[in-house]
Amino acid sequence: MARVTASISDIEKAAGVLRGGGLVALPTETVYGLGANAEDPAAVSRIFQVKGRPPSHPLIVHIAGAEQLEEWVQDVPTAARMLAEHFWPGPLTLVLRRGARVPLEATGGLETVAVRVPDHPVALALLSVFGGGVTAPSANRFGSVSPTTANDVRAELGDAVDFVLEGGPCEVGVESTIVDVTGEAPAILRPGGVTREDLEAVLGYPLAVPSTSHVRVPGQHPSHYAPRARVVLVEPEKVIAEAELASGLGHRVGVFLPASSADAPVKAHAVVAVPASPAAYARGLYGFLRELDQRGCDLIVASLPAEEGLGLAIANRLRRAAGPRPTV
Ligand code: AMP
Ligand code: MG
Repeated sequence: MARVTASISDIEKAAGVLRGGGLVALPTETVYGLGANAEDPAAVSRIFQVKGRPPSHPLIVHIAGAEQLEEWVQDVPTAARMLAEHFWPGPLTLVLRRGARVPLEATGGLETVAVRVPDHPVALALLSVFGGGVTAPSANRFGSVSPTTANDVRAELGDAVDFVLEGGPCEVGVESTIVDVTGEAPAILRPGGVTREDLEAVLGYPLAVPSTSHVRVPGQHPSHYAPRARVVLVEPEKVIAEAELASGLGHRVGVFLPASSADAPVKAHAVVAVPASPAAYARGLYGFLRELDQRGCDLIVASLPAEEGLGLAIANRLRRAAGPRPTV
């Protein structure tokens, strides 16, 4: 089957929607984004309404190439230049001092702005036809699982988005790594598709990974990236016992079966075999969570992967998915 992807006329139509102040869902290599013209405060505000996201939570400005970075920020420190040159287009977001073009609506009132060049042909084509910057958080309701296919976006947002660009399933599958380059030393605010090890190899020194930061990053909320089902994390060797215990108590249990127990029989409502390769796990992660929700699970038992390479981002998302839920 041919890969489903947007045509030139779809991209032109999407650029027109952005120019008219509308919202476009766009594929990127990380997850699908909910995009608006970064310079249109009313359109940017609509993103927050549609997502149900608190307006103090800043968005990422997507641009077509590293050579445009100066247009959006006040200055580009050496570390930022090195990282942009090496990793863009790619799953790396840089936090820099906000340039005059960026409205405060897009930065949650902050004097810093997050910028990235996505590595997806449809996103890059849209950015170049549109000509400006596109602010886009993930195209899901605030707190829930990020979409990695155009169908996920439609299921999640329906008519609230004016146009959905098709771009196939996301290659990376987890959000970008966010690096703050405004301080004395660069710091990772959120682990993601570019590994800490790769960043350190380019910079030539170790990076701080603060557990909290002075800015309110949605990925730092205790509960984020969460499916409907409750998520319980246990040691890899305890996954099967925990799943069977919960099944015995009447739960409809979904299991993330670690690769180390791949062939073990499990009595549970639904079982997902976790890929041994971290890249394949990251690519599949949100789809697995959605699938277990769709199959009616009320509880998901999983374990954390080793927190190195892409495992750091996967573990971060699983911890957030398992975090305490807001009480309604
Ligand atoms: P989302 O993919 O929906 O989580 O949204 C984009 C991410 O970029 C969020 O985690 C934001 O908080 C983060 N972000 C955007 N701007 C900034 C900034 N100025 N400082 C720190 N994080 C930011
Ligand atoms: Mg998000």
